[in-house]
Amino acid sequence: MGAYHITYSPELKEVCLHFDAGCQFRCHGCIARYHPRDCHLEEKHKQDENKSLSIKEVVAYLEPLDFKKTIFLGREPTMDPDFLPLARTLKEKFSTHNILLTNGYKYITEKAINEVCVGIKAITKEIFRRFTGQDKPEKVLENFKKHYNSCIVLRTESILIPGYIDKDEIEKIAGFIASIDSAIPYRIDGYIPTGVYSSDKIDIFRRPTEDEMRKVKEAAQKYLKNVSILHQGTQLKYKVNEIY
Ligand code: SF4
Repeated sequence: MGAYHITYSPELKEVCLHFDAGCQFRCHGCIARYHPRDCHLEEKHKQDENKSLSIKEVVAYLEPLDFKKTIFLGREPTMDPDFLPLARTLKEKFSTHNILLTNGYKYITEKAINEVCVGIKAITKEIFRRFTGQDKPEKVLENFKKHYNSCIVLRTESILIPGYIDKDEIEKIAGFIASIDSAIPYRIDGYIPTGVYSSDKIDIFRRPTEDEMRKVKEAAQKYLKNVSILHQGTQLKYKVNEIY
């Protein structure tokens, strides 16, 4: 339990805290499980996990850094008992803008959190169940609405997996987001297969091509005003350093 990995982007004045608590979902190719280190780091071959840090130790690592934003991510921060106490501590001590990346299965209302990014995996019940191991996509959608109604800064993400979570499903998700507010930012990530950075057996699903990513972006743009994509061909505009 707690943060096991810390990365820092000096240009963005942004820190990422990766948590290892566990997750209610069992997503195929879980990024936090198969790529436990920040995939923006240049050295991609080291995939071991560090020991988790106490709140005091995290603060000691962050103290020398010039940062304004903290992103809480990894294996579902909302399941980690250190997440909220740490967010409160960082808000109090460094006045950070705190951003939670979550699967949306749990609704969080907390003054120390300024922004929430909900990963919507799927909307179709059968796809959601097969992908996450849970059978209530409506719980994520209801919590998404609650976050929106709470007036917190809200954005969302999904993963395009050819042959599994395809353009049609992404289009349904975009339609749902637009039914709440078409200005909510939506990012579509290209799937990273297992076995890319580790010795795990090769995945049965592949990365989407650049053309598939372009087409899915166009499909989502029929509903939403602010759609972006992230995939293998996307150039990183800033440097990411490993702190722990
Ligand atoms: S919600 Fe995120 S952390 Fe949880 S299993 Fe899915 S990809 Fe992994």
